[in-house]
Amino acid sequence: MSTTLEPEQAQQETDEGVVHILWMNGGLSCDGDSVALTAATQPSIEEIVLGALPGLPKIAVHWPLIDFECGPETGADNFIEWWHKADRGELEPFVLVVEGSIPNEAIHDGEGYWAGFGNNPATGQPMKTSEWLDRLAPKATAVVAVGTCATYGGIHAMAGNPTGAMGVPDYLGWSWKSKAGLPIVCVPGCPIHPDNLSETLVYLLYQVAGQAPMIPLDAELRPQWLFGRTVHEGCDRAGYYEQGDFAKEYGSPKCLVKLGCWGPVVNCNVPKRGWINGVGGCPNVGGICIACTMPGFPDKFMPFMDEPAGSKVSTTASKVYGTVIRRLRKYTINSGNKEPKWRHKGSELTTGYEKVW
Ligand code: SF4
Ligand code: SF4
Ligand code: SF4
Repeated sequence: MSTTLEPEQAQQETDEGVVHILWMNGGLSCDGDSVALTAATQPSIEEIVLGALPGLPKIAVHWPLIDFECGPETGADNFIEWWHKADRGELEPFVLVVEGSIPNEAIHDGEGYWAGFGNNPATGQPMKTSEWLDRLAPKATAVVAVGTCATYGGIHAMAGNPTGAMGVPDYLGWSWKSKAGLPIVCVPGCPIHPDNLSETLVYLLYQVAGQAPMIPLDAELRPQWLFGRTVHEGCDRAGYYEQGDFAKEYGSPKCLVKLGCWGPVVNCNVPKRGWINGVGGCPNVGGICIACTMPGFPDKFMPFMDEPAGSKVSTTASKVYGTVIRRLRKYTINSGNKEPKWRHKGSELTTGYEKVW
């Protein structure tokens, strides 16, 4: 997919209201969120980029994962030039998407740097990821942190954290606002849910075009409509939990809490939404929820695969309640599986219907 434009063309289209998306994955990142986004279906990235959604402004996406300007044929200089244009104030408006956590360049010893991309044309020296953020954040219409590394530090920021890795809100400040008055928008997940991100990007593009009100975010800067419920509330296995029926081994269709599922206390819509095109979603398909969307991830939810300490009280209660309720329900199920007596008394049909065969 050609997602970028020649510089002259871009200048022309900028005048026509093109919104540029600069995707920065030069932090501490595995690129998993970029890969995940390719699976989006509601809407798909193709629908966004090719303008298939009514009212969406024209966009130009500068996304290293698929951008042909990153390839050897055109040379990476063309690609990085978009960043320099934004830095010079020649790209307006643009949305800055950040994937990967931001290392603290103040804490390494001596020369070098933790993370960066592209060179500074004035010095010929590499530019640090944090430097790009310093330069571009004040000029961006919106800043979107994508994946739990970029939002809250994620895996790289777990206890020990030799690089001082942090999420964008910790780097820019939780109350930071863009020049258009937008807070940092966080879409966590390790990786992000594809549609959660594509939907958030579409919302922001409509907002930039003046067609949507301020994006509603929770206290952790996540879109409220995506992260307002728990995994447990949308899980296919919640009925087993309520009846105190817990899996003892993987492969069981029952509730996974005893195997380490944190779903009851995790804000995430993945089981409700499914993973790709409505299919899948961690516990629905047998994977424990390890709380990858939470700012406390991973430290507060380790060791993975141990039963969460807090679940012992609630599962004991539901075991007692569930054992009785299951028996009563079984009785009702058996009863419901039989036709009413007025229709069928034992083997005798009592509706007066005359058999003709
Ligand atoms: Fe990779 Fe997860 Fe970090 Fe995304 S949040 S960059 S998927 S480790
Ligand atoms: Fe809740 Fe997890 Fe059990 Fe699903 S598998 S019902 S999310 S505890
Ligand atoms: Fe992460 Fe749990 Fe959501 Fe799966 S269900 S994406 S592990 S928070």
